[in-house]
Amino acid sequence: MGDISMNAIFKKIRKSEIRKVLPLTERPTREQAEEAVSTLLKWIGEDVTREGLIDTPARVAKAYGEMFKGYEQDPETVLGRTFEESGGYDDMVLVKDIHFHSHCEHHMVPIIGKAHVAYLPDDRILGLSKIARVVEIFASRLQIQENMTAQIAYSIDGALKPRGVAVMIEAEHMCMAMRGIKKQGSSTITTCYTGDFQSDPNEQTSFLTLLRMEND
Ligand SMILES: [Zn+2]
Repeated sequence: MGDISMNAIFKKIRKSEIRKVLPLTERPTREQAEEAVSTLLKWIGEDVTREGLIDTPARVAKAYGEMFKGYEQDPETVLGRTFEESGGYDDMVLVKDIHFHSHCEHHMVPIIGKAHVAYLPDDRILGLSKIARVVEIFASRLQIQENMTAQIAYSIDGALKPRGVAVMIEAEHMCMAMRGIKKQGSSTITTCYTGDFQSDPNEQTSFLTLLRMEND
C-alpha cells in the first residue's frame, strides 16, 4: 500500500455505533433547507440576489439529497437474508479498493478514501456487489472514519454471520487539508476486526499480507 504515508494514524475499533435515522415526519421541508443554505451564504458575506447564486440554495439542497442518500437506505435490506451456498469455499474473500466519498460529521467537508473488506465464510457467501453497496450507504451519511469502519464490519457480521470480518479504511480528510492544521496528503487508517480476525492474529496477518501483495 504505497500511498499510506508516514503520517498515517493507526486506529483500532472494537464497537459499532449504528445511529438512528430521523423519521421523515420530523424533518424540515425542502424550502426550509434551501432557506438555511441562503442564510449560510449571507452569513459568509454573499449577496444571495446576484445571478450566479439565485439557484444555489436549490442546487445545494438537491446535492445534499444525493450525497446523503445513505439516510434513506438500509444496509440490512441491501445485505438481505438470502445468501448463496459457499460450495465448500472457506478461505478469505477480500474486496479491495472500494473507493468512496463521505463527509465528516464535525465540519461536513469531504472524506475521500477507499475501503478494503474481507470475510471468512462459514457456509454462506455474499454477493460481492453488496459489500460495495454497504460501504456506499455508510459513506453517504455524516461520518467519522472510525465509526464508518465499525459500521461496515458489524453490519456484514450481523447479516452474514461469517467466521469473521475485517475492514480497513484509508482516507484523506479534507477538514485536515483545507482548514485547521492544513496538513495535506496524510491518510488516516482504521481497521475493525470481528470473529476469527479479532481473535486470531494469523488471520489478521493474512488479511494485511493479501492487501499488500495485491498492491505490489
Ligand atoms: Zn472534519
